Amino acid sequence: MILPGGTLGILGGGQLGRMLCLEARRMGYRTVVWSGSEVAEPTQGVADEVICKPFSDQEALASFIEQVDVATVEFENIDHEVLKTVDEKVGLYPRPEAVAICQNREREKLFLQEQGIPCAPFRVIESACDLARGVEALGGKGVLKTAAFGYDGKGQVRVHSGMDWEQVWDDFDFPRAVLEKWIPFEREISIMIARAADGEIAIYDVAENVHREHVLDYSQIPAQIDEQTAQKARQLAKKLAEGLNYRGIMGVEFFVSEADGLLVNEMAPRPHNSGHHTMDACVTSQFEQQLRAVTGLKLGSTQLLTPVVMLNLLGDLWRGQGLCEKLTQDGATKWHVYGKSSKEGLRKCGHANFLGEDALQRAQELKKSILS
Ligand code: ATP
Ligand code: MG
Repeated sequence: MILPGGTLGILGGGQLGRMLCLEARRMGYRTVVWSGSEVAEPTQGVADEVICKPFSDQEALASFIEQVDVATVEFENIDHEVLKTVDEKVGLYPRPEAVAICQNREREKLFLQEQGIPCAPFRVIESACDLARGVEALGGKGVLKTAAFGYDGKGQVRVHSGMDWEQVWDDFDFPRAVLEKWIPFEREISIMIARAADGEIAIYDVAENVHREHVLDYSQIPAQIDEQTAQKARQLAKKLAEGLNYRGIMGVEFFVSEADGLLVNEMAPRPHNSGHHTMDACVTSQFEQQLRAVTGLKLGSTQLLTPVVMLNLLGDLWRGQGLCEKLTQDGATKWHVYGKSSKEGLRKCGHANFLGEDALQRAQELKKSILS
């Protein structure tokens, strides 16, 4: 067990790392971030130390290991060898084996299948010919996703019967992919689940997620689903955490579909965007929970204190009319800004937690007044 006063090492230097550092500081822990790149804007000024070097840099590895008592990831696309070395030297949670499964869509799908957990039917694709056959086998409509390194819908293409498969495969430009059947879902939901060193499990209320151009727009908690679906989602999340022998916090995304039932879409081996509401609406934030699990403390209460809508403050809101003035006028809204200087496209630059029964209406009014 590592008590306050100890040092947490974080692999990755994005907004999840930033929020983890802020929470760690409140709780009396030091933080060392190894960003894996030359920039780590969100964690600058909030971590006790930031190492801005690629993950292949051996000096950076030595310096990181030397300074930390235990380590975690805020980003899963990290080379397995690096994760393994960090784990051997100081302990890495979640374990490298669990990260390896969640970071690669093909391994993730095979793991789900092995565990008997329902997910969208899929095929592994290595050529235009596989693709043509796969689309027909999956009912004529699908999503082609890169096996590794995808996020926010990047490396994804919707496909349907009758396309020029040579052309689609050429344009896709990744050597290996997973083709998923198109799921005409009614809703998307997710669950944040934490598992401690001794196997104790803590599960947060189900979030309902709405996307804009493949990027999470907002999450509403509690989700507007029946108790049976919520119960099933909790059971599946628990089965996954146990099957992965997981330690730490994990996000599990699901599709809710009348025709196909409840399907797991993917897992995130770290805090997750759809868990940001926990910062202001739950007894224990997902970042505190991660720290508790990683340092070997008992888990905190996941109790939801108020209905909440988490609105992502994507790039276009900042480029619109008066975001900050409007946001600051609502006394029951808590905002979080990630310290990114570029606010291009739909980049995630912050989020706001609208608290209370009328949270969704207030969030939508704010968005509409800025974008229209
Ligand atoms: P993120 O990092 O935001 O989770 P990602 O790049 O890992 O995104 P996915 O979660 O696989 O990608 O897909 C992004 C979104 O695209 C999903 O949340 C869903 O809205 C849509 N989508 C993905 N796969 C399917 C599918 N098989 N059928 C229907 N919609 C899908
Ligand atoms: Mg996703």
